[in-house]
Amino acid sequence: MKKNLLDRFTKYISYATTSDENSETYPSTEGQLVFGDFLVEELKKLGLQEVEKDQYGYVTATLPANCEDKQPVIGFISHFDTAPDMPGIAAPRIIENYDGGDIMLDAESNTALTLTDFPELSDYKGQTLLTTDGKTLLGADDKAGIAEIVCAMEYLLKHPEIKHGKIRVGFTPDEEIGKGVLFFNVEKFGCDFAYTMDGGAIGELEYENFNAASACINIQGRNIHPGYAKGKMVNSQLIAMEFNALLPEFERPQNTQDYEGFYLLIHMEGTVENSQLRYIIRDHDRQKFEEKKQLIQQIVDFLNIKYPGRVSCEIKDQYYNMREMVEPVFFVVERAEKAMRDAGIEPKVQPIRGGTDGANLSFKGLPCPNIFAGGHNFHGKYEYVPLESMEKAVEVIVNICKER
Ligand SMILES: [Zn+2]
Repeated sequence: MKKNLLDRFTKYISYATTSDENSETYPSTEGQLVFGDFLVEELKKLGLQEVEKDQYGYVTATLPANCEDKQPVIGFISHFDTAPDMPGIAAPRIIENYDGGDIMLDAESNTALTLTDFPELSDYKGQTLLTTDGKTLLGADDKAGIAEIVCAMEYLLKHPEIKHGKIRVGFTPDEEIGKGVLFFNVEKFGCDFAYTMDGGAIGELEYENFNAASACINIQGRNIHPGYAKGKMVNSQLIAMEFNALLPEFERPQNTQDYEGFYLLIHMEGTVENSQLRYIIRDHDRQKFEEKKQLIQQIVDFLNIKYPGRVSCEIKDQYYNMREMVEPVFFVVERAEKAMRDAGIEPKVQPIRGGTDGANLSFKGLPCPNIFAGGHNFHGKYEYVPLESMEKAVEVIVNICKER
């Protein structure tokens, strides 16, 4: 299994599938379609059925049921794009029987995985680590997930004595630019529930994420030659600073953790004449999330009393906490927990301080918690994945599939 996983994974990450948030096409880059075609051939060769790539680049396939009893249809989903932050063609380094020390990735730039920066490395002593060469990201996010799903399907095909219901797999583009399931056809996918294999370290299991909104604040000033400005000039930038000062300082990402929400100023630009502030708003709790949006509106209203008609805002919801969709079908989480325990892993359930494709799918009617794919330090040159964690992920998938 290890060799199979390694072969598939290294093949997958040799494809450049970086997504691009400035693109106007879907998927955002051609390379993703090329990799999609490759996956289609791979899944057909494996012997999966109903292998398809649709007009948006979504690749889906079916492992038919091999038991008589009625079983739920279960899906497994991973994304094949990699983060735009860094180039994505990785030449991985394979470190067998890791000695538990620091790992030099690229001597020239002195890029190293050190225990000081990444103390969790010592958990993997004796295992096989896949790292970058210090120049690109690795792409374990989320090609590790794809390799795990494909290997699990192959395993089930080779072991017909393991009884299971109908299984669907889905591979998706453009997750990293927040558009992963924009056109995903949940109805056609036809699952009762699914799991994204897109979490981090071994044991991670997630079914809570942020509620998310964006707020764009526009401030109209009045520019006058400074020599003649008395009583006339209105400097929009100063009003913008006032706006930001009215937001609670302790509700910023650098001051929050766990279930604490925040406001984050992501962009500002301004002149005397006109200024714009862009924020994102995040909170796991729906009530607190609504209150955070209200506070933005209250500050706008307050400033409009002080500076009549000069401040406007547009608040847009982006995604919601999947918890409210998953809780009514909590057996979906319990099934994953049991699958992990049966594989000898203690599930680490934690709230995601972000979003997932699974959140959007959950609100499209497909409850979809997130399971570890095994990697660490996503989106950069320090990304790595222990092969043994990937092997455990395969075992978890197989266990989830098993007839109940
Ligand atoms: Zn991912």
